[in-house]
Amino acid sequence: MATPQQLQLLAPLSGVLMPLDQVPDQVFSSRVIGDGLCIDPTSNTLCAPLAGVISNVQASGHAVSITGENGVQVLMHIGLDTVNLAGKGFTRLVEEGERVDVGQSLIEFDADVVALNARSLLTLMLVVSGEPFTWLVPETGVVDSGQPLLSMHGAGQTSDEGLPEEGEALFSKPVTLANPNGLHARPAAVFAQAAKRFSASIHLHKQQESVNAKSLVAIMTLQTAHGDVVQVSAAGPDAAAAISTLTELLLTGCGEAGAASAPVEVSQAEASSLKVLRGVCASAGSAFGRVVQIAEPCLEVNELGTTALAERDHLARGLAEARQALQQLRDNAMGNAQADIFKAHQELLEDPGLLEVAHVLIDEGKSAAFAWRAATESAATLFKGLGNALLAERAADLADVGQRVLRLILGVEDRAMELPDGAILIAEQLTPSQTAGLDTRKVLGFATVGGGATSHVAILARAAGLPAICGLPVQILTLINGTQVLLDADKGELQLDPDLAAIEQLQANRQLQKQRQQYELANAGLAACTRDGHHFEITANIASLAEAEQAIALGGDGVGLLRSEFLYLDRNHAPSHDEQASTYSAIARALGSARNLVVRTLDVGGDKPLAYVPMERETNPFLGMRGIRLCLERPQLLRDQFKAILSSAGLARLHIMLPMVAQLSELRLARQLLEEEALALGLTELPKLGIMIEVPAAALMADLFAPEVDFFSIGTNDLTQYTLAMDRDHPRLASQADSFHPSVLRLIATTVKAAHAHGKWVGVCGALASENLAVPLLLGLGVDELSVSVPLIPAIKAAVREVDLLDCQAIAQQVLGLESAEQVREALRLHHEATVDTSLVLEN
Ligand code: PEP
Ligand code: MG
Repeated sequence: MATPQQLQLLAPLSGVLMPLDQVPDQVFSSRVIGDGLCIDPTSNTLCAPLAGVISNVQASGHAVSITGENGVQVLMHIGLDTVNLAGKGFTRLVEEGERVDVGQSLIEFDADVVALNARSLLTLMLVVSGEPFTWLVPETGVVDSGQPLLSMHGAGQTSDEGLPEEGEALFSKPVTLANPNGLHARPAAVFAQAAKRFSASIHLHKQQESVNAKSLVAIMTLQTAHGDVVQVSAAGPDAAAAISTLTELLLTGCGEAGAASAPVEVSQAEASSLKVLRGVCASAGSAFGRVVQIAEPCLEVNELGTTALAERDHLARGLAEARQALQQLRDNAMGNAQADIFKAHQELLEDPGLLEVAHVLIDEGKSAAFAWRAATESAATLFKGLGNALLAERAADLADVGQRVLRLILGVEDRAMELPDGAILIAEQLTPSQTAGLDTRKVLGFATVGGGATSHVAILARAAGLPAICGLPVQILTLINGTQVLLDADKGELQLDPDLAAIEQLQANRQLQKQRQQYELANAGLAACTRDGHHFEITANIASLAEAEQAIALGGDGVGLLRSEFLYLDRNHAPSHDEQASTYSAIARALGSARNLVVRTLDVGGDKPLAYVPMERETNPFLGMRGIRLCLERPQLLRDQFKAILSSAGLARLHIMLPMVAQLSELRLARQLLEEEALALGLTELPKLGIMIEVPAAALMADLFAPEVDFFSIGTNDLTQYTLAMDRDHPRLASQADSFHPSVLRLIATTVKAAHAHGKWVGVCGALASENLAVPLLLGLGVDELSVSVPLIPAIKAAVREVDLLDCQAIAQQVLGLESAEQVREALRLHHEATVDTSLVLEN
């Protein structure tokens, strides 16, 4: 009998077993999805090889996954390329989420239809969660449906039920996915493969959902998208190493960074007629200059060598000189990123695999140059062919090192490239060696076909402060040297033969921006008073003591939003009272008794799950247990936080703010808890208590909330999401979920009116407050305080000093009647041009 740790997997079909390596589909034979078996079926009902829950069943019915109680996940895939049949010939007998017994029928298929229309009927059964197994039958031969085939020893180590047990797991920092389509099949496979190398039980978390990180299928069921925030947790002996490796992998796009910059396909004919070629920004900025094409010279190499001894010696000398040259480049590098690249190149020189291939060829009579080139080229080709962008980039490094050593073996002089002034370098791929040797006084920017935002050329461009675009169409390689181009990396555009007006515009804008920033910084200490003498508080949104200090240095009047989540996230147990108290006190002390400190109580749930506060899975976490709702459900958490915040009373002008309030009862209950905690501490004076206005209900009932609060602060990020019913992180709705929408502005107006009627002040701490364009609008709507992102304090203060409150009130009333966010933005732009004299700023 199989013990719980020795789960057996039964044959899902009758048929003939075939070794996985022989499956004519690389995705399966490479085991990148998981190890398992292949059956050439003689029956036509796919049955469950284990009991569990259907974790995924393709709508087309050709594939199904089951997750067993112990976390083992098994994928069954009927036929090859059967996805193209779009369901033809398949009948699904189960639904996602359904619990199935071992042997239960899952999918029926018409073998004739499938065999006629698809490449093959070969059916795969793969353990995608990565547990090892042993065979219970010979690996080839005939099997019957339901016959035990595999025994899994490690099963039971992982749990698919959300979070690993409290206290056992380590959690990574949250990582925002840069992959354009989230963790889709290929990056998910890379991630799952990497996770399988660790014995720890590893989970990937997105909001309230968490899945076995060793399972490709499970990762895909998370349905991550670009910009999603995910976390990795691991429990087990190598948990720390797993967290660090996997976090790094997520940060670097799971091998997809280059793919993220997939070039826009443009045909030759189109390119010649196009004036603008598009790629992706690898290093911000813009420049106008002339094309200089950079091509790697093709070196002549004799195939045959002299004696093996002499050729080995040549190679050894070439390698030693290359090592030295790279050391020099490391020593002179512009920062660590560049030094690390050359360190990696030095390591390649010692790679035993490369050396072995080269030595074998030399021993067969080849020259050192030929042998070395063959060794590096074949390894680079292998890397490129794996379809993994990260490895493809390593191929570029190999080619670079290969060429360096080759030149040294052949005695070809490595002359510094002669460049004209104002060069925009164009290349298929600029190698680190090429970029390191450049005279950056003459280079204005890079434009390449290859590489991505994380490629070496991008790293080096950023280190040198040069704009760069990667992923441009290959047609850039046909541009004639000397052609004038405008490289606008911020937009990812290379403009060919730009007209004078565009060039002048670009240069003028850059100059103005620079002057403007200098002016704002120089005047950051001045009060934010409008031209007609009305003072506004410009405070900071912060999440650490360092940011509080920076805010003061940049002229901030206080802190309008301390996002206290930073104390709670990224850890596997709640912060202690002492830790919380000392953090709040340190921030309060830094601000001093004359400045406001608005501490927002814990706002987690929704997009910010807490590892150690297990929450039930929610279909709609943004509409679920978020913010104050979650805290009132766990009152001790809120009491502890109140107690810790109260310990900083007196050090700054302390305010406590409740997030996501929608009901008066929430405010009242929270106030009661606060009063009880204050009483227990013997405090006679309560800090100010306010609420965030970020749920339309609160804005619409602001007249009822106002008598019971000391202040409001409007969270336009959430208020916009809930008013427009558009997820604030939705990649496709990003441009529409605009806080300038008149509906949001009307709610702000309603809130201000109600607050002022009761003598209460109103701040805005959502991102709208950090937009220059919004300054006259918000002041005009009557907002009293703008709490902004720290680096923008000087800019927002300067913007306040440029307007008249009366003008602001007029424009604010006008835009409330408009139809769309675009119209509002346009009206504000025109208003700015008409009322603000920027030349005065630049003269000052
Ligand atoms: C907001 O919603 O505007 C806000 C400031 O809160 P957060 O962005 O932290 O949700
Ligand atoms: Mg919010």
